[in-house]
Amino acid sequence: MASLAEPLAPFARLDHPAPLAAEARAAILANPGFGTHFSDHMVSIAWREGQGWHDATIGPRGPIALDPAAAVLHYAQEIFEGLKAYAQADGGIALFRPAANAARFNASARRLAMPELPEDMFVDAVKALVLADRGWLPGGEGASLYLRPFMIATEAFLGVRPAKEYRFLVIASPAGNYFKSGTPAVSIWVSDFTRAAPGGTGAAKCGGNYAASLVPQAEAVARGHDQVVFLDAAEHRWIEELGGMNVYFVFRDGRLVTPPLGGTILPGITRDSLLTLAREQGLTVSEERYALDQWRADAASGELVECFACGTAAVVTAIGRVAGHAGDFTIGSGGPGQITGMLKDRLVAIQRGLAPDTHGWVMKLD
Ligand SMILES: *Cc1c(COP(=O)(O)O)cnc(C)c1O
Repeated sequence: MASLAEPLAPFARLDHPAPLAAEARAAILANPGFGTHFSDHMVSIAWREGQGWHDATIGPRGPIALDPAAAVLHYAQEIFEGLKAYAQADGGIALFRPAANAARFNASARRLAMPELPEDMFVDAVKALVLADRGWLPGGEGASLYLRPFMIATEAFLGVRPAKEYRFLVIASPAGNYFKSGTPAVSIWVSDFTRAAPGGTGAAKCGGNYAASLVPQAEAVARGHDQVVFLDAAEHRWIEELGGMNVYFVFRDGRLVTPPLGGTILPGITRDSLLTLAREQGLTVSEERYALDQWRADAASGELVECFACGTAAVVTAIGRVAGHAGDFTIGSGGPGQITGMLKDRLVAIQRGLAPDTHGWVMKLD
């Protein structure tokens, strides 16, 4: 494993010889969607046993050459992160809690037997890419540049053991406005599949978790729902999270509950930020297990008034309907609730530099 104190040369910088023409980029930025368009550059840093991190470059984005025996292609030694650079009210650009992503990336690396990347290097890599491609930040309210740092095992070797060579990369994709008012509440399907078992990789942000969630998610969509929600693997009783978002429950008396982290839930940075913001708003927040049958009973009695999912991509999304083999139920009015909207607005205002950053969460880049 690489030592965190390992020295690393600064990035070699190779400007793109032919970045996308301004008009073509403007056409993309007018309607970027999510995850289909990419900026001109990427960051790449290599790691080899005995040598550590080396060859840090920021250069033109393009295909990467991999040996067909590269370990990532066979045993899925891969981890990733997701964070955004936000347009600021003052015209600048800022990252939200990038050090938290760096720390979580290293936690994922440890679980997948991969080398850790010094946290400063992770943040510097993300910063360098945002500054190189800041022209890819869409204009308009709520626009952002989505950053995807990831690491793959590149060693050509078919034996089963941790690889001895890796590559860390960062790519960027312009993202449209998720903050439009009147976003409808989503409908979710309670899956019979499980996402993560005790002792498994549920707390690591690894591609393998997502590969395993595709069939459950497709099943939810085939049944007419937007998203899937998973129960715990041991008792199939406790709510864990959605395919890629954490979940919160809001009660009539102003209490908020979110399932506790315990190795099977991904420790979301949005989840963590909302714990703090909700408490600041005078709400009582607890990390507690919450059972599916209780969820249904509380929705029926009116004890539970709102429910929402949260994550970097969509920030906060109201959950209006829940369906599963044991029947369907509606939460509150079935639409986005007041507390949900308030928490989303609070967080978005901080991310966009419209509200004071009293927690040191916002890293301005210029
Ligand atoms: C990334 C992710 C989340 C949300 O994490 P954020 O840091 O808030 O974006 C939640 N659940 C899963 C499974 C994830 O992969």
